[in-house]
Parts: sequence; C-alpha cells; structure tokens
Amino acid sequence: MDFTPGPADSESVKALVKTAAGPGLELTEVPAPRPGDRDVLIKVLRTGICGTDLHIASWDDWAAGTVRPPLVLGHEFVGEVVAVGPAVTRAEPGDLVSGEGHLVCGSCRNCMAGRRHLCVRTLGLGVHTDGAFAEMVVLPESNVWVHRQPVDLDVAAIFDPFGNAVHTALAFPVLGEDVLITGAGPIGLMAAAVARHAGARHVVITDVSDYRLELARKIGVSLALDVRAVPIGRAQRELDMKEGFDIGLEMSGRPEALRDMIANMTHGGRIAVLGLPTEDIPIDMARVVTHMLTIKGIYGREMYETWYAMSVMLQSGLDISPVITNRFGFEQHAEAFAAARSGRCGKVVIDWTRPTLPADQPTS
Ligand SMILES: [Zn+2]
Ligand SMILES: [Zn+2]
Repeated sequence: MDFTPGPADSESVKALVKTAAGPGLELTEVPAPRPGDRDVLIKVLRTGICGTDLHIASWDDWAAGTVRPPLVLGHEFVGEVVAVGPAVTRAEPGDLVSGEGHLVCGSCRNCMAGRRHLCVRTLGLGVHTDGAFAEMVVLPESNVWVHRQPVDLDVAAIFDPFGNAVHTALAFPVLGEDVLITGAGPIGLMAAAVARHAGARHVVITDVSDYRLELARKIGVSLALDVRAVPIGRAQRELDMKEGFDIGLEMSGRPEALRDMIANMTHGGRIAVLGLPTEDIPIDMARVVTHMLTIKGIYGREMYETWYAMSVMLQSGLDISPVITNRFGFEQHAEAFAAARSGRCGKVVIDWTRPTLPADQPTS
C-alpha cells in the first residue's frame, strides 16, 4: 500500500478544545495531527457527545483529576481515512471508519492473552490523548473499525456507546428472559433495543424523565416505568411475572436503582452494571448471597467481538436510529452541549463537515 504522509507541518484544523483547567470549551485551530507508522489519519465526519465530554466541559472533580489541558475532546465518531502510516495493513484511504476510544497497552497480561478490553493501562481517546472533536483525528490502526457494510452516518458516529450497550445487554444470554434496565439514557435505550433484538421476553426500563420514557416506548419496550410513581414490583404484576427479573442492566449509576434492581431479581438472576456511580453504594448483600445473584461490571467494549456483534445486528435489522434526537453543525457546539446536558434528548450528534445545520432536528 502507498504511504500517504498526511497534512504538512504548517496545516491546522478546527477542533473543540479544553484550553485551560476550568469550565468551558473553545472552538479553535490546532496543528493537524500526523499519523505515525502504525496510525491512521481520519477526516472526521460526525461525532457523538458523551457524558464524559460533559464532565470535561464542566470541569468537575473527576475531570480536574484526570484531564491535562490543552486537550481536544471527543471519542465517539465516524470518519473517512485520508492517510495511513507505512506499517498499516488493514485500512486504506477512502475507508469509512468508527473509532474504538480505549487505547490499550498491548503488553500487559490481559492484552497478551487477547483480552484487550481488560487492559490494566487503558487510556481514553479525548480524555488522555487528543480526541475526535476536530476536523481530523489520528488513531492506531488497531483502534479503527472499518465499516464493510453500508451504515447510517449518525449511527456510525455512536458506535462507541452503542458498543457499551451491546457489551452490557449481551453480557448474559437474554433469549426468552425478562430484562430490567434501570436508566433510559441513550445507552439504556440502545440496550433495550438490543435485548429485544436478541430475543428477550419482557424488557422493562425505568427512569425519572418523561422525555426519555417516551423515547423508550417508541423504541419498543414492554413497559417504560417512572419509578417516582410506580414501583418495579407493580410492573412485575402488570406483566404477570411471578418470580422476578432474570437479567438486570444497571445504566444509571444511581444507588437506589441498583438496590431496586437487586430487590426485583429472581433467584440466580444476573446483573450487568455499566452505570458509573459517583459514591459508594450500600446494597443488601445477604440477598445477593441467598438469591445467588451475579453482579458483573462492564467497561467499554470487547475488541472486537462487540464491534462484530454491532455490525451484524444492524445488518439483521436492529434499528437504534430513534435514539439519535439532535443534530448540530460544529460551530453550534455550545447549543449541542446544552442539549446534551438538558436531558430532554437522546443522543446528540455534531456534524464536522458543516458549520451550522438549519435547526436542531429533534425526532418527534
Ligand atoms: Zn462515550
Ligand atoms: Zn494492556
């Protein structure tokens, strides 16, 4: 394959940057990233805004302890390969790619054993290294997923969180099972669609946002439950369930959600937890023991089994596009972040090929 060197040293690109420690983001010019031997240079087309980006933008304690400005944010994206390093073999200019946002070391015990998602030295694109909220991004070849089938660009932009949803929803077999999902944010909603697609009997999702519960109904759950008004136990009776949920997917990080979930599982029930709590969660451990529950933490995506599962489920009819509710051009980043922060949205996508879009387009 021909080596294409990418942009000249003097070239610059627009990027959304955390320029200094403190709240706020700036759309500014940065030097164009240059690919190393095993890297791929990608022209970014669309990006998704993640909770992580909101934390970094608002500069909370986690962000202040993790991020070293200046930093280009963003890890959820789709783009087109424009140049590759001389040692790259699988990707070539013109390929449409999404990025795996976890950069692994390749040399720890888990990496060496092929369990790269369990790398003990994982770094985050757009958290520890310059990310994808820019006109160009560089990633190691081992971190790009080449789309070999036609895919909607907005959907391709959110393969990273879609992967979180798939990794969590398929952590345990769901065929014929009753599944409880606590938290109807974008990942909870996608997990609901995945559990349905994978053959679950009942999928019950809980939240406290009317907007998101309504979105869940559109996606097609058995019940979307406002837990401020209706306890999960009543939902079980409504669905004529007798012995509790078989599978739990905790997507909220909320202590009361995990406790509620544990209280509503059947004996031998299995819980996958993706929601990141910000505090210690006291739980009824006696119940975990006597009910022989399994609780499994989920982080990121399996490289690249989860990605394979995502691609083939889309091919076989899974539709996650209703989860994407708002779209903006890159100059409208402040509006986009405000929409994402409002909670009255599903996934928010920024188009890096257009400065502005006519109006944000919430699906209704
Ligand atoms: Zn994310
Ligand atoms: Zn490693």
